[in-house]
Amino acid sequence: MEFVAGNIGWIEVICGPMFSGKSEELIRRLRRAMIARRRVQVFKPTIDARYSPDEIVSHADIRMKSEVVSGAVEILARLDWRTQVIGVDEANFMGPELIEIAGRLADSGKQVIIAGLDTDFMGRPFSPVPDLLALAESITKTLAICMRCGSPAKHTQRLVESEDLIVVGAAGMYEARCRRCFEPGVPRQEVLEFARAVIETNRS
Ligand code: ADP
Ligand code: ZN
Repeated sequence: MEFVAGNIGWIEVICGPMFSGKSEELIRRLRRAMIARRRVQVFKPTIDARYSPDEIVSHADIRMKSEVVSGAVEILARLDWRTQVIGVDEANFMGPELIEIAGRLADSGKQVIIAGLDTDFMGRPFSPVPDLLALAESITKTLAICMRCGSPAKHTQRLVESEDLIVVGAAGMYEARCRRCFEPGVPRQEVLEFARAVIETNRS
């Protein structure tokens, strides 16, 4: 068997709120690897089919082809053993198995780049991203810009009324907020009125 010097795996995590550029940064890193002729596979969860069924799409409409999986276990099933770099978007929807699987992939010499939300709509750590941060070689925390005041935003503000942890959506349903402007969970009524108006407009 051929042994390539430097054939060591590791985990990189890109985390932050929605609109902070996680997908853009993931795509940038994967493109660089592709240009350097590294074998790349990209995965995203089925739950997130907002813009495209078979692509990662950033909020600024930057795209990259990806394979859709129901959860982290399916990444292993679909992995081509020749793949050197593995990209995972929306890690927060991949399930707790991603923690062990990312570790196994890195141990077997793969470069694993994972992007995902680090906190939920209540501002709580969003599993399994916190564990991945602890186990990663490299961590990048991206920030968005607060839609209320322009400060650095680390929170994802939900604008629609729901107590469910997962409500998939983007502009109109969520916005970036700083720690001062963030309201955990359901925001005040005036904001809801605004959100409803946006959703109605999008529907029609
Ligand atoms: P994420 O994957 O973190 O949700 P994306 O990479 O999909 O982020 O999108 C980042 C892009 O979203 C930015 O480059 C910008 O064009 C746009 N954007 C929309 N709202 C905001 C905001 N409040 N702050 C920063 N960027 C925003
Ligand atoms: Zn603010």
